[in-house]
Order: sequence, then C-alpha cells, then structure tokens
Amino acid sequence: METGGNSQANTVGSDATKRKVCYFYDPDVGNYYYGQGHPMKPHRIRMTHALLNHYGLLNSMQVLKPFPARDRDLCRFHNDDYIAFLKSITPETQHDHAKSLKRFNVGEDCPVFDGLYSYCQKYAGGSVGGAIKLNHGQCDIAINWSGGLHHAKKCEASGFCYVNDIVLAILELLKQHERVLYIDIDIHHGDGVEEAFYTTDRVMTVSFHKYGDYFPGTGHIRDIGYGAGNYYSLNIPLDDGIDDECYVSLFKQLMSRIMEMFRPGAVVLQCGADSLSGDRLGCFNLSIKGHGECVRYMRSFNVPLLLLGGGGYTIRNVARCWCYETGVALGVEIEDALPENEYYEYFGPDYTLHVTPSNMENKNTRQMLEDVRIQIMENLSNLQHAPSVQFHERPETHFPLDEEEQPHPDESFDRDSSDADILNAKRGDEPKPSLFYTQNLQMKQETETVVESESKPEHGDGIEIMISNTTTLKVSETVTLPVKIESVSSDKPVS
Ligand SMILES: [Zn+2]
Repeated sequence: METGGNSQANTVGSDATKRKVCYFYDPDVGNYYYGQGHPMKPHRIRMTHALLNHYGLLNSMQVLKPFPARDRDLCRFHNDDYIAFLKSITPETQHDHAKSLKRFNVGEDCPVFDGLYSYCQKYAGGSVGGAIKLNHGQCDIAINWSGGLHHAKKCEASGFCYVNDIVLAILELLKQHERVLYIDIDIHHGDGVEEAFYTTDRVMTVSFHKYGDYFPGTGHIRDIGYGAGNYYSLNIPLDDGIDDECYVSLFKQLMSRIMEMFRPGAVVLQCGADSLSGDRLGCFNLSIKGHGECVRYMRSFNVPLLLLGGGGYTIRNVARCWCYETGVALGVEIEDALPENEYYEYFGPDYTLHVTPSNMENKNTRQMLEDVRIQIMENLSNLQHAPSVQFHERPETHFPLDEEEQPHPDESFDRDSSDADILNAKRGDEPKPSLFYTQNLQMKQETETVVESESKPEHGDGIEIMISNTTTLKVSETVTLPVKIESVSSDKPVS
C-alpha cells in the first residue's frame, strides 16, 4: 500500500472537495466531573455536541460512539503499573494510597474523581477509533473533541491529562503510515506527545505554544529531537496576546514547508481551544476564525486528518470553536446566529458563534516572529542532510500487535508486544536504544515472530449512533485485522 506519497498532490487552498467525516462522541462524557472549581470541564464536549446537533451538522457525518480503550490498548504506551493504578483508584480509597498518588502525579491538577478510569477509556477510545477509521480509508477526517490530552506521560498524569490518547492514536496510524505529523495549537506545549516520539523520525511533532514562565515549562525552540529524531521535534515559542494575523501567517508558512519536507501519510491536529482570546487559563488573542483557519489549512492538503480537542477553559467559547471547526472539516460555513439549544443561556448576551477578540497587547513583535520563523526553517533545512534511514523489506511479516485472542478487557495485562516495535522494527538494524522505550526493547527480541493474520475481530471502530439524540443504537462493528506491513518504503522522509 502507498503510505507516504506526495501529500501536496492537491493544491493548497482548493478546498471545494467534500470530505468524509467521522465524529466520535460518547453521550456520557459530559457527566465526568473533575471537581469543584477545577477548570477542566468535560461538559464542554456535551455543549459542543448540542451545537452540532442544532446546527444540523450531525446529519452530514458519521456519528460514532467509541469503544472504550481496554487496559492493553492503553498499555501500548503507558506503564502497566500506572494503568493498574488509574483503574483501581477511587475518591474513597485514594487516602490510603498517598505514595502512589505522588508517584503518578495524581491528586491536585489531576484529581481522582468518580469514573476516572472509564473517562480515560472513553476519550482514548475515540482517538484510537478515529485512527482506525482513517487507516481503513473509511473517512478522510476523524474527529474526537474529547481527546487531545497531550500532557499525559508514560508513567504519570499531568496538566489535567491522565492517558495520552494522542500518542495511542499516532501509534495506531503508524501501523499504516510511514510518517505521521502531529501539530499542536493548544496554548500549552504538547510535551507528552513530543516526549513519546522524541527519538524517532517517523513522527514529527510541531507545537505552537506560549513559552516563558508558563505550564509545562518545556518547548524551547532549541528542543529539536534526539538521535534518529533529531530535527523531528519542532517548537514554536510565542508570547502573550498573539493575534490571528501573526499566528495564522506563521502557521501557514511553517506548515507549508513541513508538509513539503516531511510528507506525512497522516496528520493529527490537536485543536486545544485555550489559545482563544478570553480563555480562563490562556493569554493568546485568537478568534475562532483564526484558530479554525489552522484546521482549514491542514484540511486543504487532503491527507488523512485526525482532529482532537485539548485544553479550553472558557467553555462557551470551546463549544463555539469546536462546532465551527467541525463545520470547517465538513466544508460548510455555518451561520453566526446560534440555534436554540439546551445550553443556550451559556452563550449570552450575543448568542452568536463568533466572538470578538480583545484589545490586549500583542507582545510578539514582528522581529521576534521572524526570528522564530527563520530558526524553524533552518531546523527544517537540516532534514535534507539527515542520514537516510535504511528500511528493510519485510514482506509478509506481521507485527505482533494484534494477537489472535483477546483476553477479557479486565484481565491482567498481557503486554507481549510494545509499540517500540512499531517505531524500531522498520529499521533494518537492531533497534537503537531510545530514551523512552528502552525497557521495551528487550521484549522486541521475544516477539519478533510472525503472527497469523486470521485473528479474531479486534478493536472495532465504533458503534454508530443514530443521531438526533434518540436512543436508537445501531451496532456497526468493523473488523480490524492485524496490520500487515506489505511493503516498507525506503524513501527518505525528506526530498
Ligand atoms: Zn492547554
């Protein structure tokens, strides 16, 4: 199968073509509650859904209820101990587990709340389900607004994020695509995703974020990746008050070059809405149109696209933004006057989709932005001189990722393969030790066996829900066979 290819085949900007869109939504997700006063409110996902419903957008796309990610799905990235902890901890029992809470950074920013583990399973299930749909060519764009929790680490929670659905989705996309591009327009650095793929050239991570005395503190422009991943992590540090004009212009110039150089087979765009003007935790000054222009631009490349949520703490604007961006994905412009909906009172006094940015000062001078642009372009030019990666043809070899028999999701972990295999197995040589996957490498030796393709149905890609908020559920399981890497491209990631 062709996995790389020139993603620029379609002229940028020729956006008239309709895209097939899959939208993942779990009606329960709005009920999870981080606790009183906590800025992260899953309710915003339900508000987004209400707007989509009343704008009539649900009728234009496939609406899927995700299968919850199972332990073993989550353990493709996360440590077994950490997942076991998330599964077992409850608000009632947490006081007996002070040591573990500290170890896994759970308790303050990332509190223990009722249903925490099922929340993680749901939001991760949507992102992985979206990746599966894209891998099967069953849609052009997959959307999971409940996902995008980019701060979660392999062994710890961080920044309101517990499991990293983005890393899991990218690992899924890597089964089918030689190269995956991750773009993060949340105001915070996409540290968890960057860290996971810091040493590989198969995933390029690009994060636009506020830098300087701001959470999580990482994302310096000189952090560029390591080893084989050198120059495959890009960080665009920005200052307070950046407006549409500056942001979108820089975004397009850089992404245009990145698409040309990296030529990804799939793109994951984290659409954190805390970069919008007036966010409770943010300090940028983007309008919804400006934010959405980044989505529109990435859509124009016509490469399989996974759209995810992320931060966003002024929830009426988050719902507005993700509703608008769903319209962008569908290629429809929606009216500014909001339709009546069950959360209408949140959107007063204007009851419009768009909100005017503030008059706050833009601390990003033209010179600063130009310096950033030049530095990133220079980093990108180094890609041309990166040593080529030798791929070995391994026809008929199946990565042992999808074992034939699935244990009950609640059974103990059976981590008999790791996604370090996906990242490293395509290299001809012995896998290079990496910073984050080192402990998995040994397992690779034991699992380097051919697995039969005729395995049982695996993680499907969702349950179709008949929309209009009725209770009709139509189960449409799609069988997911183990991925067969038919041919491994030997082309270099850069031209
Ligand atoms: Zn954020």
